[in-house]
Amino acid sequence: MWRNWAGDEACAPVAIERPGSVGEIVAALERAAAAGERVRVAGAGHSFSDLVCTEGRLLTLERMDRVLDVDRASGRVRVEGGIALHALSAALAEHGMALENLGDVDAQTIAGAISTATHGTGARLPNLSAQVEAIELVLADASTIVCSAADDPAAFLAARVGLGSLGVIAAVTLRCVPAFTLRAVDRPAPLEETLARLEQLGDESDHFELFTFPHTRTALTRTNNRVEQAPRPRSRAAAWAQDVLLTNHAFHAFCLAGRAAPPLIPAINRLVTRLAGSSVRIDRSDRVFASPRLVRFTELEYALPRERTAEAVRRVLALIEARGFRVPFPIEVRLVAPDDAYLSPAHGRPTGYVAVHVFKGMAWEPYFRAVEEIMDGYGGRPHWGKRHFQSAATLAPRYPRWGDFQTVRARLDPDGRFTNGHVERVLGPPTPIGARVAG
Ligand SMILES: Cc1cc2nc3c(=O)[nH]c(=O)nc-3n(C[C@H](O)[C@H](O)[C@H](O)COP(=O)(O)OP(=O)(O)OC[C@H]3O[C@@H](n4cnc5c(N)ncnc54)[C@H](O)[C@@H]3O)c2cc1C
Repeated sequence: MWRNWAGDEACAPVAIERPGSVGEIVAALERAAAAGERVRVAGAGHSFSDLVCTEGRLLTLERMDRVLDVDRASGRVRVEGGIALHALSAALAEHGMALENLGDVDAQTIAGAISTATHGTGARLPNLSAQVEAIELVLADASTIVCSAADDPAAFLAARVGLGSLGVIAAVTLRCVPAFTLRAVDRPAPLEETLARLEQLGDESDHFELFTFPHTRTALTRTNNRVEQAPRPRSRAAAWAQDVLLTNHAFHAFCLAGRAAPPLIPAINRLVTRLAGSSVRIDRSDRVFASPRLVRFTELEYALPRERTAEAVRRVLALIEARGFRVPFPIEVRLVAPDDAYLSPAHGRPTGYVAVHVFKGMAWEPYFRAVEEIMDGYGGRPHWGKRHFQSAATLAPRYPRWGDFQTVRARLDPDGRFTNGHVERVLGPPTPIGARVAG
């Protein structure tokens, strides 16, 4: 059996293979072709949906986790597709380098993270896949191609955010930056005032985000700015007390109480918000961006035109009150710069991301469907690794380069070797090039 991180999506592939080289990937693909099986590749299983699941052959690249080449002068770093972001950050730090941005965890693999357009926050910073210079992709026919702006520009724009539907990402070349220190300021602030200034706050800082617990009127803001200072790492005990004890174990206890007695959730949320004080940290960038997440949950997240983000958050909060949803998890709001990958949810527009979460074991579907209806009204594009209810028919009009992606998909995976039920739902069935109508 294979299970995702949240533990609520599972599948029973005919085989799980752990190739250690391109040659072993090719051999696995040949076995799949001979048996007429479909293939999916799993990263760290941090997607919330059944995106990875297959009853065919599942590959994981956990043995392909090496840094292959580091060029400090150009900032280019070539790594195997299975390397975890935390291992990559640690290796980069040894060379005085870093990724320019990260999401709020770093357990994902590089291939998995870029394939769903994983993002952090920063109005001037695009999602992680926009840091990619080249992708080495092993195709269903066992050939390997290099997707880069120079070698194959269309495949490059498709494979940067490809949902695992084009081939196996064996290696990735990234554009990295010199190591930097962040000053992180966490501070509660009045919600309405913060939402009203959301774009300004985003423009004024390198990385701004806010969390707000439903049933409260407070924004828990997090502002990270680059500083020319040496990092001042916390002691292990202090880091554990903050990141594990308070942010995870205490929060978990509150979530359990809320799940057992939903009418208490508004009071619990107000208490958690009051307990979240202000703090300042100065540390290496990756240690500030990412922290451990031990409380299991599921999530839906939408990319919206940036200027509509605050309004969308207000509507979600109003919806929660009107429909009587009881939600013990905060709503998270981040800002991301536009990019040009065909299927990037931030394609071509400054973007605000709004994420809603539900604690493991609580009903999420009615809440997520109602939130999605709001997001639909803004032409919202779902995060490819999180839950949503869209189909290829509803998504195609939201992506100006949808047809270009499908053309590349038909060229690279004409028989749909890398398809599963989820991919067919959100991208449509694979169509051989000759049979395609441009769209
Ligand atoms: C606790 C938690 C926190 C998160 N925080 C953030 C966040 O801050 N920002 C954000 O944007 N997202 C966030 N996510 C979502 C997560 O970043 C994405 O779902 C990401 O895709 C997971 O990467 P993974 O390595 O686990 O890949 P998986 O979920 O295992 O796979 C994701 C996709 O990548 C494909 N894939 C994986 N490896 C390969 C390969 N070698 N070749 C081809 N295809 C491949 C898979 O087939 C699948 O389509 C979070 C998720 C969790 C559980």
